[in-house]
Amino acid sequence: MLERLRQSLALRLALQHALVFAVAAAGLFGVLYWLLAESLETREQSAVERRAEIYAAAYNLGGVPLVKRQIDAERTPEVRPYFVRIVNQDNTFVWVGAPPDWVETQVEQIPFGLFTWNVPTQTVRVPQNALRDYAIASHQLNDGRLLQVGRLTDSRAVLLAPLRRAFLVVGAAALAVSFAAGTFLAWRSTRPLRAVAETARRILATGDLAARVPDPRTRGELAALVTQLNTLLDRNADHVRVLRETLDNLAHDLRTPLTRLRGTAELALQGSGDPTEAKAALADCIDESDRLLHVLEALLDISAAEGGAMRLNRDRVDLRTLAERAVNLYQEVAEDRNIRVSCDLPSPVEAAVDSVRLGQAVNNLLDNALKYTPAGGSVAITVRAEPDAAVISIADNGPGIPPGEREAIFRRLYRVDSSRSQRGLGLGLSLVKAIVEAHGGKVLVAESAGGGAQFDVRVPRA
Ligand code: ADP
Repeated sequence: MLERLRQSLALRLALQHALVFAVAAAGLFGVLYWLLAESLETREQSAVERRAEIYAAAYNLGGVPLVKRQIDAERTPEVRPYFVRIVNQDNTFVWVGAPPDWVETQVEQIPFGLFTWNVPTQTVRVPQNALRDYAIASHQLNDGRLLQVGRLTDSRAVLLAPLRRAFLVVGAAALAVSFAAGTFLAWRSTRPLRAVAETARRILATGDLAARVPDPRTRGELAALVTQLNTLLDRNADHVRVLRETLDNLAHDLRTPLTRLRGTAELALQGSGDPTEAKAALADCIDESDRLLHVLEALLDISAAEGGAMRLNRDRVDLRTLAERAVNLYQEVAEDRNIRVSCDLPSPVEAAVDSVRLGQAVNNLLDNALKYTPAGGSVAITVRAEPDAAVISIADNGPGIPPGEREAIFRRLYRVDSSRSQRGLGLGLSLVKAIVEAHGGKVLVAESAGGGAQFDVRVPRA
C-alpha cells in the first residue's frame, strides 16, 4: 500500500508541485526580508549620521560647550537624547554625554577604536544584548578628533522576528493547502489513466473482451488515449470474434468430408472384398482427400497472400488471355447449366501480373457466377482499361448479393445463407481478394445491369 502510494503519479506530481512552490516562496520571502532589513538599517543609519553631522558642526563652531548646549536645547520628554562622545586620536575621550537613563556599564559597552581614522562619516552597529543594539555613527572633526553619536535600537533580528514567524506560519499553511489541492487535482486528472490500467487488469484477469474504459468526461490527451484504446479493443474483439467464427466454420466444414471419407473407407472394409467395389471406394476416398487438400491449400494461400508472403511471378500480360482461358475452362460447365457466357474484349489491356494467380482469381469468380446463376441465365466478362487501372468484370443475372452482405462475403468461410444449398466452403472470394490485393489491386462487388452480381477486379496498369 505504502509502496503503491509512493509510486502514485498523482502524489509524485503533487510533491513536485509543492517543492517548486516552497522554493519559489522561500526565494520571494528571502528577497522581501533582505529589502526590509536593508531599508530599516538605512533609516537607522541616516538618523544617527544626521545627528553626528549636527553635533560636529556645533563642535567645529564652538567646541564641547556648544555641543552640550545643542544637546540641551534638543532635550524634550519625547526625544530620547543621543549618546555623544568626542575621542582623541589616541583613543582617549575628550567628552562623553550619555542619555540620563544610561548606566555607566552601557557607556563602557561602546568600545573605542570602533572607527578608522580619517574617514569623514562611518556607522557601526554594536550589540548590547539579544534584543537591542547600539547604532553608532562617527564624524571626523576639524581638529582631527572623532565625534561619535549613538543610540539604542531594537536589534534587527528582533524587529524582523514577527515577519519570519508570519512567513513560517503562512508559508507552512500555504504549502499544506497547495499540496492537498495539488494532490486532489493531480489525482482527478490522472483518473483516466487509472481507468485504463483497471480495464487492462480486468481483461487480463477475466479475459472479458467486452470491457471498455469508461468515458473520462474530459478532453485532451487522456481523453484521446481512452478513445484510441477503446477503438483498439473494439478492433481486437472483432478480430477475435472473426477468428473464432472462422475456426468454428472450418472445423464444421472439415468434418463433413472427413466423415464421408471415413464412411466410404469403413463400408469398403466391411464390403464383399470385390476389387471393383474396393477400387471405387478408394477413388471416392481420393476425391474427398483432394477436396480437403484443396481447402487447406486455399487457406494457406489466403494466409500467405494476406501476410505478404505470396510470391508473385509478375509478367506483362494481356488480361484478355486470362478471361479467355477462364471461359474455355468453364465452357462445359456453362453449357451443362444452360448459361450463356459472353465476352467483351475489344482491345488489349496489359498489366504486370502473376498470370497463374490472377487467373485463379478470375476462374473463381466465373465459377461462382456459373454456380449461383440459375439455369437459362447469362454471364458477361469484360476487360477494359481505365486511366490508372486494368479492370476485369464478371457480371451475372443471378440472385445478386444483398447490400448488407457485400463486405462479409470476402471473409474466410463466410457464405450467404441462401447459398447453403450449393457446394462450397466460403473460401473462394477470400482467396480472390487476397490475390488481387497482393497485386496492389482491389476487388469490388456491385449489382450488375441484369440485377445479379458484378465483381470488378482492378489491378494497377503497368
Ligand atoms: P462459396 O462459393 O464456396 O460459398 P465464396 O467465398 O466464393 O464461397 O463466396 C461467398 C459467398 O458469396 C457465397 O456463399 C455466395 O453466397 C456469395 N456469392 C459469391 N458469388 C456470387 C454470385 N455470383 N452471385 C450470388 N452470390 C454470390
